[in-house]
Amino acid sequence: MTQLDERTTQAPGDRRTFDSLDPATGDVVGTHPVHTEADVRAAVARAREEAAWWGSLSYDDRERHLQTWKGVITRRLPQLADLVHREMGKPHADAVLECGLAVEHIAWAAAHAEKVLRRRRVPSGLLMSNQAASVEYRPLGVVGVIGPWNYPVFTPIGSLAYALAAGNAVVFKPSEFTPGLGEWLARTFLEAVGRPVLQVVTGLGETGAALCRAGVDKVAFTGSTATGKRVMAACAETLTPVVIEAGGKDAVIVDEDADLGAAADAALWGACSNAGQTCIGVERVYVHERVYDEFLDQLTARARLLRADADPDALIGPMTMPGQIEVVRSHIQDALDRGGRAVVGGLDAVGDRFVQPTVLVDVPEDSTAIQEETFGPVVTVTRVRDMEDALARVNGTRYGLGSTVFAGKRAMEIARRVRAGMTAVNGVISFAGIPALPFGGVGDSGFGRIHGADGLREFTYPHAIARQRFKPPLALTTFARTEKAEQQFAQLVTMLHGRGTTIPRAVREKGRRLGGRSGR
Ligand code: NDP
Repeated sequence: MTQLDERTTQAPGDRRTFDSLDPATGDVVGTHPVHTEADVRAAVARAREEAAWWGSLSYDDRERHLQTWKGVITRRLPQLADLVHREMGKPHADAVLECGLAVEHIAWAAAHAEKVLRRRRVPSGLLMSNQAASVEYRPLGVVGVIGPWNYPVFTPIGSLAYALAAGNAVVFKPSEFTPGLGEWLARTFLEAVGRPVLQVVTGLGETGAALCRAGVDKVAFTGSTATGKRVMAACAETLTPVVIEAGGKDAVIVDEDADLGAAADAALWGACSNAGQTCIGVERVYVHERVYDEFLDQLTARARLLRADADPDALIGPMTMPGQIEVVRSHIQDALDRGGRAVVGGLDAVGDRFVQPTVLVDVPEDSTAIQEETFGPVVTVTRVRDMEDALARVNGTRYGLGSTVFAGKRAMEIARRVRAGMTAVNGVISFAGIPALPFGGVGDSGFGRIHGADGLREFTYPHAIARQRFKPPLALTTFARTEKAEQQFAQLVTMLHGRGTTIPRAVREKGRRLGGRSGR
């Protein structure tokens, strides 16, 4: 049987459906259609009509609509958070935090789109000083957003708010584990704006694959590295551009002069909140040997107080995806088989639906617990000689998403040497809550950016205009070009660049003044 057959039900009228389940209990939360290739294509066609309208609005009008939507979401935050809790299991308070941060991103994207994307002048340079040069960033049209289940509101909003603010229509395919949340977002958008500029298609992986083939103008994918490769391969068929936000193996570095209590607190929260199912969650900690023992004591003392439970007051919820539990178990097993020790938790911590916090030490660097994404409340702690040693290990995986540095005087110097898209210094995952900062990774963590000005530009294409303001002193792009003009051009280029040194500031300034003076 295919995956589709196992998970879906044939409903009356030949429409297949599937259920989203509460991961803590297995109860059905909602039943949703499996949208077919034809359904997805119809949604994209509809989105294209909406894109024509939405893209023709002024930035002010789009901002007004998006701020209205933001208001609706904010007023219903408890309802949305409750659905997050039921569909993917995280504690209600964590769901409120997630949704509140998502709202912050909608507000920022809406308010900053014009400033970032509108036409602006750029210097035309000394050689082209008769030209006025300008560039603006235009919407692509229809963006397909494919989202994961672990932050089922915050993560897709990071793509769709920025794509919408940039003037695109969006077709969103939520994870099969959180389809109700996708529908909730599309429904409230329609209520706030009155037109389905944001649509949702639900289903399993095949529906996402259909979206890649449906002729959208860009796909924003967030999910595992393995699926990201499949998405890229499908998009390559139609030269559809992609932004890939994939997995991570984020590390915390703790230097000898760090605040150890704060570092232990942050490492534990980064590792275990959301049951460790966080792309920028902490999976490894590297600690200076002079403070290793004290840090480990502080971390383990805190970790022993934490429990994952179905209790509504529990700080850690269930594992959302049953299949991931086996991955977590295998990483712990591999670490133990190869000389590692569990100082908190261990194999017994892995249950049917819940995994208890686990702290592993003495784990070899080439074990899966260090090299592969675990995606559970498991963290390795490793003693390092110095910060050079720490950086070599931190930078030694294929991933490069987020990272954290706890240090005193060398904090920024260390942070700047981490190979990752984002680094929090003396805090944890703080960068994700700052809308002006770009979010994304390098290596197996993907490419392209959501959030910030880069995140707005990600969903646009630049349009450059060079407008002639007066006849060029040297007429070069004509068959009537004279020999004298050619000689003068050669002399000018030699004068500007022949010495192989920086062009004198006075000459550059002159070019900028001449090229940049006139309007758009
Ligand atoms: P998956 O890769 O399993 O799925 C991601 C999305 O892709 C889902 O909507 C899924 O649908 C869909 N999908 C599955 N197969 C295909 C296909 N062939 N073509 C198109 N779409 C497809 O990831 P998870 O949902 O399990 O999310 C967890 C992963 O996401 C982790 O690796 C985590 O690190 C990463 N992540 C990265 C973030 C980042 O910003 N870098 C943020 C959050 C998570 P369905 O669920 O229906 O199968």
